[in-house]
Amino acid sequence: MLFRRKEQNPIRIADKKVHEWKYTTCGYCSTGCSIEVGLDKNGKAVASRGNADADVNRGKLCIKGIFEHELFTIAGRGNKPLMRDKPYEPWTETSWDGALDYMASEIKRIQATYGRDSFSIVSTGQLLTEEFYTLGKLARGCIGTNNYDGNTTLCMASAVSGYKRSFGSDGPPGCYDDFEHTECLIAWGSNLPEQHPIIYWRLKEAMEKRKFPLIVVDPRVTMLAQFADIHLPVTPGTDVVLMNSLMHVILAEGLEDRAYIEAHTNGIEALEACVKDYDPITASKLCGIDEDTIRVVARLYAKAGAAMSIWTMGINQSTHGSDGVVGINSLNLITGNIGKPGGTSLSITGQCNAMGTREWSSCSGLPGYRYLEKPEHRKEIADFWGIDESFFPTQRGLAETDIFPAIETGQIKGLWLVATNPMTSMPNTARIRKTLEKLEFLVIQDAYADVETTHYAHMYLPAAVWAEKEGCFTNTERRVNIVRKVQEPVGESKADFWIFNQLAKRFENGRKIHFPDTVEGAFNEMKQLSKGNTRTLDISGMTHQLIEDSCGIQWPFREGAEAPFQTPSGKNGVKGSPRLYSDGVFQTKDGRANLIPLPFINNNEVPCEQYPFWMNSGRVVEHFHTRTRTGKMGNLNKYSPTPYMEMNPDAAAEQGIQHGTYVRLVSRRGDAVVMVQLTQRVPRNMVFIPFHFFDCVNRVSLGLLDPHSRQPAFKQCAIRIEHVDQKLAAQLNVERRGF
Ligand code: SF4
Repeated sequence: MLFRRKEQNPIRIADKKVHEWKYTTCGYCSTGCSIEVGLDKNGKAVASRGNADADVNRGKLCIKGIFEHELFTIAGRGNKPLMRDKPYEPWTETSWDGALDYMASEIKRIQATYGRDSFSIVSTGQLLTEEFYTLGKLARGCIGTNNYDGNTTLCMASAVSGYKRSFGSDGPPGCYDDFEHTECLIAWGSNLPEQHPIIYWRLKEAMEKRKFPLIVVDPRVTMLAQFADIHLPVTPGTDVVLMNSLMHVILAEGLEDRAYIEAHTNGIEALEACVKDYDPITASKLCGIDEDTIRVVARLYAKAGAAMSIWTMGINQSTHGSDGVVGINSLNLITGNIGKPGGTSLSITGQCNAMGTREWSSCSGLPGYRYLEKPEHRKEIADFWGIDESFFPTQRGLAETDIFPAIETGQIKGLWLVATNPMTSMPNTARIRKTLEKLEFLVIQDAYADVETTHYAHMYLPAAVWAEKEGCFTNTERRVNIVRKVQEPVGESKADFWIFNQLAKRFENGRKIHFPDTVEGAFNEMKQLSKGNTRTLDISGMTHQLIEDSCGIQWPFREGAEAPFQTPSGKNGVKGSPRLYSDGVFQTKDGRANLIPLPFINNNEVPCEQYPFWMNSGRVVEHFHTRTRTGKMGNLNKYSPTPYMEMNPDAAAEQGIQHGTYVRLVSRRGDAVVMVQLTQRVPRNMVFIPFHFFDCVNRVSLGLLDPHSRQPAFKQCAIRIEHVDQKLAAQLNVERRGF
């Protein structure tokens, strides 16, 4: 019997009645997609679409970007500055002048009583670059605390540290265009389709045009691992063993690029001596990858005309994070894969402007990749700002992860948190709660008054969010793009730039240092500081308008540089520098990169009889960080509203655990209740939990610190699983979901 095809109803796209599209840049991840936000006749943001001119995303957006215009109206925004004598007491509304006067007086009181470094500042990777530069000026030049850091210590500190150790400077050497040229790609602990969907799309498109081997190193069968040619389910925390073994094979079989090593590196003898101990048979027993596969991967990588490695938190969030980055860099150096099309080390950054804080915030040094430890850098910045150079410390102070223990021991009495939420993001929640309760003065500056950490605050300052203000972000591939203002800030909330400028006026040095009134003024100062130096970070050829016309420019882009091109829609833009170190000259004293031996010391917390499961954590595509934004957006949160745990069905059967039920996880630090999702993605002795939820994974995480980067090992600890009362657990889940 023949069926006639029924007339199909055409797909209808709702007419949002967009009157005008405004250019801006996505404020979630570090991919750096250019977005256009659609405004209706009343100026209300009603739609988002990808910008087709932008080389990064070429008209596409992921699910977070598609709904980003909804961000302006979600719940929980703060409208007015709030103050109170003690945490938990009712808030009192105050004026901006009242709040900032009191804040300055409390900072001065604490510093006068306990010393300058007893007041601490922790910022974020979410501000605009001009805001980071201004906060650095305020923190280093006016307040003068050395205990100033960013929450980027939780995500990218190991990449920064590893780049500095290998190449003498921070700065990812590669770019997305390398996907178009590479002949072999290893993704280390990076689940692109969920973490950076548009970078994944760029990779996938390159692979569809020209097939090359994709090798994924990850203990879990992630979405990216499902698409891989070879998946290496490495034992958690042993990536360095695998890297050493790959280098062992390459050097033992003479597959290295000897000419490149001799011309551009130091330390090959020490590296060779170290990796001799990591023959594939020995290494396989430690890292869990069989010896044949190690040999196959080593040969594939070394024999490829160009090979590249990308990585994310699977490498960085480990006690061996910095070593892991150095290992990746060494693998690329010995195979001559740095600075050439398709041959590179490319850290995939987390937050939208984690790069901006690395470059300009002065958290770990002084602006423009300058060091506190170098007298000439201190003098240069002191002269530029017009203050005495002796005001600067001569070495870096505490990282974020050391600031909290210093509060615990009474060394730090006051804390200012800018757009960061340690009650959800830091390991060992119970310890963080106790720590925050010890503070004499805690200020939270955030767009959202309802972030969990605000419970412990004495003051709340309402900040504008994302495109309620204007300035730059730098993405993973060093591309500076511009966020244009699309909406006015809600209520009395203010741009962070304005807040920093106003607070600066209340300090003695704040009256000496010039704080430009406009973000463009701050950008011009940054340009001057980047101009004509020998460092790679040079933005002196950029202007805000040129950045928008080009849909982002990669640094270095020096004054007078010319690289004109036309965007697909015919705009005149410029291209910056896609790669660093193409000339084989690095930022070390003698211009040669460092090959550093990495003997492996196993200090991971490993499963045992009492705690028999590895706990692994990571992201899901619908959420961003601690859900302060995505947890309140129906179009995102409804896809992933519940803290859950991936568990292997065989392990669950052994324990009598059913799919969709709640269980309690217990570690040596604490416990957490989650819903079970059975999947073969995780091996029998491992569970995986998204890290976004409050009162969840970080109640149990260990957070042992990397010795170089001070980044916590979020991803490797041991837990056991217990049954819980299902009704009580369901009730807890409803309360916790909140929105
Ligand atoms: Fe935004 Fe990242 Fe998604 Fe691009 S991939 S739209 S930058 S969240």
